[in-house]
Amino acid sequence: MSQHQHVMIIGGGITGLTAAFYLQKEAKENGVPVTYTLIEGSERLGGKIETIYRDGFTIERGPDSYLGRKKSMTTLIENVGLKEQLVTNETGQAYVLSGGKLHPIPEGAVMGIPTKMGPFVKTGLFSLGGKARASLDLVLPRRAEPEKDISVGHFFRRRLGNEVVENLIEPLLSGIYAGNIDRLSLQSTFPQFQDVERKSRSLILGMKHTLPKPSDRPGTYGKKKKGQFLTLSTGLSSLVKRLEELLDADSVLKGEKVTELVKLASGGYSVELESGRSIQGDSVIMATPYTTMKELLSEEVAVEGFHATPSTSVATVAMAFDQSALKKDINGTGFVISRKEPTTITACTWTHRKWPHTTPDHQVLLRCYVGRANDQEIVFQSDEEILQAVLEDLKNIMGITDQPTFYYVSRWVKSMPQYEVDHKQHWETLQENLTKQYPDIYAAGASYEGVGLPDCVASAEKAVENIIQKLRL
Ligand code: FAD
Repeated sequence: MSQHQHVMIIGGGITGLTAAFYLQKEAKENGVPVTYTLIEGSERLGGKIETIYRDGFTIERGPDSYLGRKKSMTTLIENVGLKEQLVTNETGQAYVLSGGKLHPIPEGAVMGIPTKMGPFVKTGLFSLGGKARASLDLVLPRRAEPEKDISVGHFFRRRLGNEVVENLIEPLLSGIYAGNIDRLSLQSTFPQFQDVERKSRSLILGMKHTLPKPSDRPGTYGKKKKGQFLTLSTGLSSLVKRLEELLDADSVLKGEKVTELVKLASGGYSVELESGRSIQGDSVIMATPYTTMKELLSEEVAVEGFHATPSTSVATVAMAFDQSALKKDINGTGFVISRKEPTTITACTWTHRKWPHTTPDHQVLLRCYVGRANDQEIVFQSDEEILQAVLEDLKNIMGITDQPTFYYVSRWVKSMPQYEVDHKQHWETLQENLTKQYPDIYAAGASYEGVGLPDCVASAEKAVENIIQKLRL
């Protein structure tokens, strides 16, 4: 193994924290000669993860859970000893607001793709013409160039028609990316659907085959279906807190913004901090958004067209109510909204139902989202203005007329990276540019190979593996 390496990790969100944790683990458990400095610009670790605890409520300002089938996050949670705190979401009916009405999402719809004909035929969400157009998917041929990246909108509009896309698929997908589906890359956001078309031609038939048989599904014999999402009963910030406790305190700098990154003639890098301090090391993990990386490195490293559309700004509005505020308590977990609706909110989670641990008995916790691609001004209005706009929508949709007992508006400016067509190809070019111009600098985090928490964790693991691998040469 080569001689000792010092790694500088820029950014203390989940990506940077994970990288620090796994580097430290390698050093302590496997004797790998590596040390690190984790540098976070703000006074708080966690980045977009932030939990508020108030009056028995557990309120997530940013992410509230993660997709359980992506194992990296669960493995991290197990590694830090928080497995006992893992909880699965309560399942229930979810709705789409379309034509001023909440429609149950038809049973069997997988990300909006119908797999059961009965509920699809009966739903009032689509017109007869819309349903007929969607069923053309059963006979339409495959795309001519299945390997070529196209937009998510283009792909689904061709197979299922505009109505199914606008009333169901777009509202569901934009909840994850807050983006314009006619620009989002299919390959980088939902490659599984591209694979289904390649293998089965029809999405409807193909998705049907990918569904587990009733007998294979856990808990379906009279028991409730298990949710697909996981979170910590103690709030996601408890993971950040635990990671901070486990990391060597001398290796973590908070409130130290990196302003410059200098390549040293002698090899390695020097990181310049706003405070005037500088730190030298052999390699760097850039666990910040791509925009920060572009600012810190020379212009030639940037890839034309990569993240050409700035990340979308969104805000979450968490509101606590007494149960009596719900005049009609709709049984379910929340709703998404078709873009054609004249609402400010884009979605609403009935958090007290989806995650009962978050809310004391006889109380209600709602979390609404505002801000979407091409419509972000609302995010920059005052808390009071945002709240009033949200309450107006909730009055019309759910009949709520009470003021919340308390509320929190959380703004996340330029927070949702837009993976546009050819994202994957641009990401590969960026990595080639880094290898050529900045060897030993690794990019990780939400800007590259997935925005979800497990994707960020996996990208940090990959950066650590690359460093360890090089050390072993
Ligand atoms: P960040 O959390 O953005 O961390 C980057 C860190 O770098 C920040 O702390 C920042 O201060 C620091 N930094 C930046 N520049 C510098 C500098 N120059 N010097 C030093 N430090 C710097 N994902 C899910 O899986 N499930 C969800 O339910 C979910 N919901 C979401 C809801 C919202 C409202 C948002 C905004 C995102 C959501 N996501 C969700 C996505 C997920 O939260 C993020 O993709 C993930 O947290 C990003 O982590 P990160 O460490 O890569 O980046």
